Formats: sequence, C-alpha cells, structure tokens
Amino acid sequence: MKPTTSPKTYRVKSFGCQMNVYDGERMAEMLGEQGITPAPEGEEADLVVLNTCHIREKAAEKVYSDIGRLTKAGREAGKEPLIAVAGCVAQAEGEEIMKRSPAVSMVVGPQAYHRLPEMLDKAVKGERATDTDMPAIAKFAALPERRRTNPASFLTVQEGCDKFCTYCVVPYTRGAEISRPYSDLVTEAKKLVDAGAKEITLLGQNVSAWSGEDEKGHGVGLAGLIRDLAKVEGLARIRYTTSHPADMDDDLIAAHGEIDKLMPFLHLPVQAGSDRVLKAMNRSHTAESYLRLLERFRAARPDLALSGDFIVGFPGETDAEFEETLALVDEVKYAQAFSFKYSPRPGTPAATMEGQVAKEVMDERLQRLQAALNRDQLAFNEASVGKTCEVLVERKGKHAGQWLGKSPWLQSVWFEGDAQIGDLVQAELVEAGPKSLAGKLRETVAA
Ligand code: SAM
Ligand code: SF4
Repeated sequence: MKPTTSPKTYRVKSFGCQMNVYDGERMAEMLGEQGITPAPEGEEADLVVLNTCHIREKAAEKVYSDIGRLTKAGREAGKEPLIAVAGCVAQAEGEEIMKRSPAVSMVVGPQAYHRLPEMLDKAVKGERATDTDMPAIAKFAALPERRRTNPASFLTVQEGCDKFCTYCVVPYTRGAEISRPYSDLVTEAKKLVDAGAKEITLLGQNVSAWSGEDEKGHGVGLAGLIRDLAKVEGLARIRYTTSHPADMDDDLIAAHGEIDKLMPFLHLPVQAGSDRVLKAMNRSHTAESYLRLLERFRAARPDLALSGDFIVGFPGETDAEFEETLALVDEVKYAQAFSFKYSPRPGTPAATMEGQVAKEVMDERLQRLQAALNRDQLAFNEASVGKTCEVLVERKGKHAGQWLGKSPWLQSVWFEGDAQIGDLVQAELVEAGPKSLAGKLRETVAA
C-alpha cells in the first residue's frame, strides 16, 4: 500500500555525473527543510528519489530496475515507498515513466526539482504529477540556503549545453546554456566554506562557457570567477569541470599559472583522436588543436595532471581511426580518464547515422583503450612517489585509523595517523597503485 501520510524518511539516490550529485544534495536539503530525515543505513525509506542519468542506455535502464526492486521490497514489507524520478531520464521520458511504472508518484526534471515539496503534498493525497518545465535559473533562487556540506563540495555554476555534439542528449535534457549570476555564486561559495568546505569544484555541463557580471558590473568569465572565489577566506582549493576545448580562453590558461588555490588538474574531454570522427561528432576541434591547447595549459602550469573523456565505436569509426585515438592517448599521457562505448541516444543525430559499430568491435576497442589509459594512470601515480603534497581528508578508510583524501592532482591517497575529516595534511606519497596511492603523514596544515 502507498503511504497516505507525509513521509518521515527519505533516500536520494543519484546516478551519473557530478551535477547530479549536486542536485541530489540540494534535493536532500529541501526535504530536510520539510522535516523529513535521511533513512538510516539498511532501512527502507518512506520516500525514494531516483536522481537519474540518461547519458548512456545502461544508465537509463537502471531506473526501471530500481523501481521494480523498490516496489517488490515495499510490497513484501507491507509498505511501499513514495517514488520520485528526477534527473535527465525524468526530463527525457517523463510521460513514458508514468505509463510504464504505476508505482512512480512524481516525475521531476532537473530544472524543476525546487517544486518537489508541492508535488509531495499531492503525492500523499494519491495524485501523480509530472513537472519537466525548464525555467531558467528559477530553481536556484527557490532552494534553501546551504547549511551542510563536505570538505570537498560541488557548486553548480552553469547548466545546459549549446554544443550539440551529435551523440549527446545533454542539450535536450538539460536545455540551453545558462550561467548562474556571479553574486549568487560568491554567496553560495561563502556559505559552503562556513559550513566546512575546504575545496569547491565549480560544475557545469560546459563550465568554461560560464559568464557573468561582477559587483562592479564588469563582464567576467570563468577565470574571473575563480580569481574572486580564491579570495574567499578559508577556501583552500578550487577545481572546475567539465570543459569543452572550444571555450578555453587565454585568461583561464593564465589562471592555472597564477592562482595557487586553483588545483593543477584539468579534465578536458577529447572523445576521439580522428579528425573525421571529431567532425562527425560536431566537436569543433581537431586532434591537433586539442594537443596544442594542452601544450599551452602545460606551459602555464607544468605539473598539470590531465584527464579526458573518450567514446569508442562512434558510427563509422574504422580500425585506423580508432588507432588515432590510441596515438593521441600515447602523446598526452593522461593522469586519469573516463572511456565509454558509444550508446545511441534516441533523438540525437548520431543514433540514425550509417555505420553503427558492432558491439564486439566496441568491446575490443574499449578494452585496448582502457589498457592504455590504465597504464598511463599507473605511470603517473608511480612518478608521484617520493613527493610530499597536501592531502584534503575526505573520509575514513576501511580500517581503523585509516584516512582517505585527495592530492592536488585528484589522486586518491590513503594514510594512517592522527587526522580528521576536513584536515589538510602534508603526506609523503610512498607507494603507487593503479587507482590510489599510499601516503605517510607529515604534518597537519589546517583543521
Ligand atoms: N560536457 C562534457 C563534454 O564536453 O564532453 C561532458 C558531458 S557528458 C555528461 C560526459 C561524457 O559522456 C562525455 O564526455 C562523453 O564521453 C560521454 N557520452 C556522452 N554521450 C554519450 C553517448 N551517447 N555514448 C557514449 N558516451 C557518451
Ligand atoms: Fe554533450 Fe558535452 Fe557535447 Fe555538450 S559539449 S553536447 S554536454 S558532450
């Protein structure tokens, strides 16, 4: 039976990108303001928000299996939870979800989740509601103030995308590019720092396209925003993601050489190494222009760690074209990267292109690409051994007395000793693994 009284506990489950993590935190804050508390670990929640991702087919399918599992568990327990589907699947398949899953009471798109409390009131009365409006910016103004956070926090500064890469659903699910106002961002960053944040990652689907006006009315880009946020006392580290090569300007490159708080890390997706494929993807850069851009970043910040995104098996990609991706990887030597098999997304131009690549071919290409990327990640980590660097402690490790944090180059570092979450410690990196490093505590810089 569905509950007919207001839920007492909630669980927000976020899939996909960091922007969803941010949205998930904001929804949790909103539910907290309604007096609903997080469900204790291991207990079923009265309200479950599935904050979904639509970027690849596998990610989108997860939502339906989750709904099935929740409904079954609820029936067995004699109390079904209220289910809200949020995020990009909600935006893209709102009506379809309502038809396919009667157990879902609320469907709310990524630009409308500030209306979740109103929808919840209706859901308790047994009404089902869908809200996939895309009002620019309204959402942020309607959300409660930031009161809780993690030492490493996210701050969404920009949403949506106008790039229309031919494989990507983001321009359809998140809408056109919008930048949040400068003053709102400075205020939110200060609140996050007051709540304990030491590091802030500025988020956007296309974060380098952020633009705004500072308090003097001067136009500023992302670099200007970073410069001003670097003045916030108590904020030790700034990062940003995800950027598009077409929007990386001279000021942002210079910022990497000038602002100590801007961490030496750049996530800059390239997707493929073949110019023909890049053109078919509508990426507006070539392999060569991407490599030259990286050279300029590395000149500004020689210890910059690089990260990227890759898609293998884009329609029409030949073996020789895939080899060009491997050649680019060999040249860049990424510190870490994300790589995916092409997934046709309904409504995107690439989904109906000729030359869809067979699954086995994609599997083999992905394996080869990931072997190369893993090799380079391990080499990068091994080259860090012997360095003493600052680590921001983010959580406890698996064993008693063990801590986990991040180096300036976004490597996971674990160490043992006297520390607490939120500390900035100096650690010597003593042993490298493929995905993390072991450190030895030197001294605590700030609590
Ligand atoms: N805005 C970023 C950019 O410029 O690349 C990233 C956005 S997207 C959330 C993250 C990554 O998912 C992309 O960089 C791409 O590698 C991957 N991706 C997007 N659409 C995909 C698709 N249809 N199939 C496989 N991977 C995809
Ligand atoms: Fe998608 Fe990124 Fe391309 Fe925008 S720039 S369409 S978000 S892959």
